[in-house]
Amino acid sequence: MSSLFSNLDDKKKFALLGLAGVSVVAVGTYAYLQRSKEKRETSATHQEDDWEKPFNLSVDQMKQMIKDFQSEMDKGLQSTTSSSMKMLTSFTSKPTGKEKGSYYALDLGGTNFRVIKLELQGNKVIGASVKQQYTISQEAMRGTAEQLFGFIADCINNFISTEKPSSSKFVLGFTFSFPVNQTKISSGTLISWTKGFTTKGVEGNDVVKLLNNEFQKRRISAEVAALANDTVGTMVARCYEDDTCEMGLILGTGTNACYSEKVSNIKKLLGGFNKDNMIINMEWGAFGDGTNFLPLTKADKQLDQFSLNPGKQLFEKMISGMYLGEIVRQILLDLVDRNRLSKGFSSSELLKKAYCFETSFITLTENDNSSELTEVQKLLEERLAIVSTVKERQLLKHICHVVSQRAARLSAAAVVAVLSKINRLQKVTVAVDGGVFEHLPGFREEMERFMKLLAPSSSIQLVLQKDGSGNGAAIIAATTQN
Ligand code: ADP
Ligand code: MG
Repeated sequence: MSSLFSNLDDKKKFALLGLAGVSVVAVGTYAYLQRSKEKRETSATHQEDDWEKPFNLSVDQMKQMIKDFQSEMDKGLQSTTSSSMKMLTSFTSKPTGKEKGSYYALDLGGTNFRVIKLELQGNKVIGASVKQQYTISQEAMRGTAEQLFGFIADCINNFISTEKPSSSKFVLGFTFSFPVNQTKISSGTLISWTKGFTTKGVEGNDVVKLLNNEFQKRRISAEVAALANDTVGTMVARCYEDDTCEMGLILGTGTNACYSEKVSNIKKLLGGFNKDNMIINMEWGAFGDGTNFLPLTKADKQLDQFSLNPGKQLFEKMISGMYLGEIVRQILLDLVDRNRLSKGFSSSELLKKAYCFETSFITLTENDNSSELTEVQKLLEERLAIVSTVKERQLLKHICHVVSQRAARLSAAAVVAVLSKINRLQKVTVAVDGGVFEHLPGFREEMERFMKLLAPSSSIQLVLQKDGSGNGAAIIAATTQN
C-alpha cells in the first residue's frame, strides 16, 4: 500500500507529539500541568481520528459508490430531471480524424478565458496553433450578460487584430464549461451557473445568441458553428488522434466528465441525431446532490453551507480545485476550535477568510521536502500571517495529502463506474485536462492505484490533454463544415 497508510502511525505520533507541545496555559502546580498534558494527549488521539478517518475512503466504500453512480447514470439517460447527474446530450460524436482546415475556438473555463486558432491537417494530426489567454474579471463573473459576453467579444477582437485571417469569416467552436441544455450542436441554454459565476441574465438563455449579439455590436463576422462543453472538447481533441479514447475528464476549477454512449441507450433523446453514438456530458459534479450517496465529512458540510450554491455540486466540492484548499482550511478551523493548534493559527485573522488557503498551496506544501518545511513556513507567514511550529507544518502537510488523495480516489471510482458501464475497461484512454490533475503531487498515481484496486483486470490510460477543451471545440466546429 502507498506511503499514506504505511506512514500513518508514525505521522500520527509525530502530530501528537507536536500537539502535546502546543502552548499550555500557565497554571499552578507541576502536577496539574502533568495531568492536563496527559489529558491533552489522550483526547488528541481521538480528535485526530475524528477529522481524518472519514477522509480515508476504502475500496468497499468506493465499490458501493460505483453502484450508486451507475444507477444515477441510468436514471439520467431516461430523463434529465430524475437523477442528480443531468447526463446532457451533446449532439456531438467522435471525430474521424479527417477533418481539415483552419478553425477557431473560445474556451470559457472557470478561471481563464482562451482564444485559439488551430490547423487540422486531416490525417489525425493537429498542426500549428495560436493561443491567447485572458483573465476573467470579477465584474464579468458576477455582473451582467452584456459585461461577460462583451468581454469575450473584446478578447476575440484583440486576438483577430494580431492575426492574418485566412478567410473573411471565422468558423468557431465555443467551449462553455457550464451545464447547458442542447437540442442541436450550435445552440444551448444555460441551466444554472457553477464555479462561482453568478452573471445575471444568462440562466435560461441561449449563450450562443448572447455571444452573437456582442459580435454584431462590434461588427465581428464569426460563425459559432458548435457549442461544446470543456469535457466534451477534451475528449474530442484526444479522439482526433487516438480512437481508443472513450472518455473525457476535467479536474480543474471544477470537475466533470463525458463519454461515448450508444444512442439506443439514451431513452430521453427525441431524435435529431443520425449517428449510432453520442457523447454524453454527464455533469458529474452534481453526483449525489439530494441523496445520501456521498461520504460527506464535517469539513465538506461546512464548506457547502457557506458556499454560493449550498446543496449543489457536492461531488465537485470534494474534488475540484476551487474547493480543495478550502477543505484544508475547514479542517484547520476545526482543529483551532478544539485547541489543537497554537496561537499562530488561532489568532490569524487571515485564516478566517474563506478560500484564503488556495489549492495551489496544497501543491506547494506537498512538494516541500525540507526537514523544517521552510517553504511552507514562508507561505504561512507571508500569505496568512501565521507563525507555526515544525510539527504543525508536518500536520498541515499530512492534511493536504489526505484531502488530495481522497479527491483522487473519488475520481478513480467515478471513472471505473463509467467505463465498466460501457464495458470498456481494457485498452482504453481517458483524456484529462485541468490544474488539479496536472499539478497536485501524486494525484495521478493515486487515481491509477485505486482504479486497479477497484477493477484489477482493467488497463485504463489517463492522458493529459492540455488545452484539450479549446482544441476540441475547434475540431467539433470542423465536423460541422462538410
Ligand atoms: P479551468 O478549470 O478554469 O479551465 P485549469 O484547468 O487551468 O482552469 O485549472 C485551474 C485550476 O486548477 C485552478 O482553479 C486551481 O484550482 C487549480 N490549480 C492551479 N494551479 C494549481 C496547482 N499548482 N496545484 C493545484 N491546483 C492548481
Ligand atoms: Mg479548463
